[in-house]
Amino acid sequence: MSQLDSLNPSAIPLEDEALRHEVRIFLTEAMRGVPAHVRARSWMGYDPAFSRELGRRGWLGITFPQVYGGAGRSAFARYVLVEEFLNFGAPVGSHWIADRQSGPLLLKYGTEAQKQRYLPAICRGEAFYCIGMSEPGAGSDLASVRTRAVHNESGWLLNGQKIWTTNAHNCHFMIALVRTSGEANRSPQGLVAGDRGLVLAGRHGAAHHGPVGRQPFL
Ligand SMILES: Cc1cc2nc3c(=O)[nH]c(=O)nc-3n(C[C@H](O)[C@H](O)[C@H](O)COP(=O)(O)OP(=O)(O)OC[C@H]3O[C@@H](n4cnc5c(N)ncnc54)[C@H](O)[C@@H]3O)c2cc1C
Repeated sequence: MSQLDSLNPSAIPLEDEALRHEVRIFLTEAMRGVPAHVRARSWMGYDPAFSRELGRRGWLGITFPQVYGGAGRSAFARYVLVEEFLNFGAPVGSHWIADRQSGPLLLKYGTEAQKQRYLPAICRGEAFYCIGMSEPGAGSDLASVRTRAVHNESGWLLNGQKIWTTNAHNCHFMIALVRTSGEANRSPQGLVAGDRGLVLAGRHGAAHHGPVGRQPFL
């Protein structure tokens, strides 16, 4: 018996599966005439107008609570959406990380004020995010992160270097892993409490948007 046999697959609920028809109608029209080499980019495809249209239809942040601009629907609904977007080669790159990583992270670890401030714009397809983890010398081993955040009167001043940051040049925000104290430490124990912070950094200047909660990250 394989380990997979112990899983209990579930079917997509009917109300979520019903979304597929509506999405296909939209995508058939929206993607008409788009050449194959453009469709092939799909999750790397940058198209802010397309993202805003998805937001207008309630298809971004679809699992986020309604109070933050989401639709409060299940992960199955999101699964149906993503499956169809990628199947059609839709340009989902602008909002991809905000919708699937940064938004859920803010939802789980953000303060109430951060949720109210940032999540609705993600759901409208107006705020694009990137992930600032990797650095020269700190790939898999994030304990080696050297970028430093120093608190000053106007917020957090970040100094350091991030690399491999997917879509950074097109994003409004980066959620960055930085050091608020301590030194880079290559030990397998990783960063110790208090030496780490996930900072939501705005694109322009070093404006402070605050550590995303103060939760242990690793
Ligand atoms: C397409 C793409 C997009 C990316 N986008 C982003 C992004 O948006 N933001 C971001 O922050 N990063 C991004 N990255 C970086 C990525 O997430 C990894 O952090 C990075 O690729 C790993 O670092 P490295 O290549 O220096 O490998 P290394 O960290 O040098 O690792 C090299 C090899 O050693 C292994 N290894 C490492 N440590 C150990 C250990 N302790 N024990 C045993 N084996 C080990 C690794 O598994 C790997 O096989 C992206 C990478 C790719 C390929």
